[in-house]
Amino acid sequence: KTPTLGNPQNTIEILQKYNFNFQKKFGQNFLIDEHVLDKIIRAAEITKDDYVLEIGPGIGTMTQYLACAAREVTAVEIDRALIPILEDTLKEYDNVSIINEDILKVDIAALAKEKNGGRPIKVVANLPYYITTPIIMGLFESHVPLESITVMVQKEVADRMQVGPGTKDYGALSLAVQYYAEPYIVANVPPNCFMPRPAVGSAVIRLTRHQKPPVEVMDEKLMFRLIRASFNQRRKTLANGLKNSGELNLSKEVITAAIEKLGKGSSVRGEALDLEEFARLTNIIKEEME
Ligand code: SAM
Repeated sequence: KTPTLGNPQNTIEILQKYNFNFQKKFGQNFLIDEHVLDKIIRAAEITKDDYVLEIGPGIGTMTQYLACAAREVTAVEIDRALIPILEDTLKEYDNVSIINEDILKVDIAALAKEKNGGRPIKVVANLPYYITTPIIMGLFESHVPLESITVMVQKEVADRMQVGPGTKDYGALSLAVQYYAEPYIVANVPPNCFMPRPAVGSAVIRLTRHQKPPVEVMDEKLMFRLIRASFNQRRKTLANGLKNSGELNLSKEVITAAIEKLGKGSSVRGEALDLEEFARLTNIIKEEME
């Protein structure tokens, strides 16, 4: 079997055959570039042993490529109007199942258990951009056994996931992603590779799940609260960010002592700290609180 939908003409034909109307609210921009599709599949390193979860298959373009490369694919699509189209474009592939559901409501851990014996799964998607962060953080924070996530996202979001301190894109998302995974930008993808064209540039990023987090932290939840508080008020000092945080409730004394113990000056900003320093700060504060 050879995938047919990477070709724009075939995509147009299918859309016309079903009189399909694009829904902006679902972030529908379908891929129409064979090179990009090949690149995604290669970056995800899919083999015939793999079970793949695809989020938002659209008309099934990437699904055809995934079905050729993987052992089994589950594709979760929210838009009911796309289901008859998917049944048509994927009818020759007997290793694909389609679920008509909102991905945020799917029990992915149960799916991994049922379809992959609980072994780590690969997630591949051209994501709907309006829910990129909840999807990715949901995958990391839940107990889904995960090997890697290879996804198309907005270029700026891919940059944010990959950078460290000292750049304008650095923030809570960078730290969260890097705590759970090793990010690698595979390709930048211009708007003309999609139909309709999105208003922003896109990038494919591969997030390879760490076997074990790169830093040791006594309380993960506390660390992420500290991170959020530090970046909520970007222009303020770390001390003020932590002091003004509603969810933390730390005394001025605890904060000042912790920053000093970390080896930083009182005017240090949160955005200057790397993951290792946030982990250390968390451990210091945790000990002070006990
Ligand atoms: N994979 C297709 C491709 O590359 O051509 C389509 C990608 S398009 C950017 C995003 C897809 O995700 C759309 O088909 C959209 O309907 C679907 N989608 C949007 N929100 C979703 C959600 N909450 N759960 C599952 N699918 C969703």
